[in-house]
Amino acid sequence: MSYFKDVRCIRCGHPLGDGAFFEGCPVCHAQGINVNYTTTYDLKGAKLPPRDNGQPGMYRFREFMPLPDDAVPVSIGEGNTPLLKLNRLGEKLGIANLYVKDEARNPTLSYKDRLCSLVVTKALHDKAPAVTISSTGNHGAAAAAYSAAAGLPCVIFTVPEVPQTMKTLMQALGACVIGTPTAHDRWVIMEKCVREFGWMPASGFMAPPIGSNCYGIDGYKPIAFETFEQLGNKGADLVVVPACYSDGLYGTYKGWCDLKEMGYIEKVPKMVAAEVYAPIETALAKNDGKPLSMPTNDWSVSFSIATSTATWQGIEAVRGSDGYARSSSDEETMQMQLLLGSLEGIYAEASSVTTLVAAAKLAKEGKIGPDDKVVAVLTSTGLKDPGSTQKVLPAVPTIQPEMDELRAALKDAYGVSI
Ligand SMILES: [Zn+2]
Repeated sequence: MSYFKDVRCIRCGHPLGDGAFFEGCPVCHAQGINVNYTTTYDLKGAKLPPRDNGQPGMYRFREFMPLPDDAVPVSIGEGNTPLLKLNRLGEKLGIANLYVKDEARNPTLSYKDRLCSLVVTKALHDKAPAVTISSTGNHGAAAAAYSAAAGLPCVIFTVPEVPQTMKTLMQALGACVIGTPTAHDRWVIMEKCVREFGWMPASGFMAPPIGSNCYGIDGYKPIAFETFEQLGNKGADLVVVPACYSDGLYGTYKGWCDLKEMGYIEKVPKMVAAEVYAPIETALAKNDGKPLSMPTNDWSVSFSIATSTATWQGIEAVRGSDGYARSSSDEETMQMQLLLGSLEGIYAEASSVTTLVAAAKLAKEGKIGPDDKVVAVLTSTGLKDPGSTQKVLPAVPTIQPEMDELRAALKDAYGVSI
């Protein structure tokens, strides 16, 4: 039996009522702020489930999701990702207890599988005729995969600049992928489809943005539950999550809040938003915590999170946990991607390694104590966009099988002497 209670506005507590849950709170909208809804739970007497309770994947924690008892999970192996301690990189960055939650181990190699699994489960239960989404790739691939597994059509709106690898992945998983001239245009056509055809939205389409389907966001709560268990039933001090519209940041924060409410931890970790153009950091510093728009470049290697505008839910996760937001330049990000790969054997997507750049900055600022446990959520694999990495790597040299040529090639291409 789920502990789910109701759905309310994150900012003002206004209950959902008969309104559309994916359009955000009308009361806050009338005040000039677009704010997402969130689910609430009655956790009196609640406990984490045993390790094997017969439910698939992340649905072991289904009591902490807004699922009716008769909902059948659409699961293809999401969740239960490893928590890895990075000693070599941690030493380099001055963080003694640095961990990564490697979410690239999910079925479509990103943590979006968690949200989309839950959204598609809801779509199936609610008898929605199709699933739709606006995405630059990871989120779309996850929506496509879970829709395919559920036997539901999936229509994805994207922008032409998205790497071909992403487009191929989404199409290969059975989705109809359609491009629009601008990112905003995706939302315009998606809104029409949701209203006209009753398609289930797996992402948001409001402008300014509010975040995704509030039911799906709870798919990120198990990241906190799993991490807690993997740390030996202990909490973390800082948890860093890449932030765009902050579904993952807010959902993970909700999981930690549940753990505190149930008495498993004394305090919620400081949630850290890793971003590109600093909309959360700036909103908290200069705009009373209200979302605002920042200037952007044409393109970023961290395109999965490169938004100009923060959402209320992202700001709330940072503010509510007394956390931080830090941004990364493309150069800092690519350096960290190669450092992570060469020191730890993990090839993470550029947007994912912004978490490690943010952690390194906080360490330099003295905001991480010597005993603090820092968990960076690596949200996707570098193989989703190898083109960005290729640009900062040397061409692979070809040689004759002679030692002199090998010596020269190792030296020239890699700076290695033998
Ligand atoms: Zn409100």
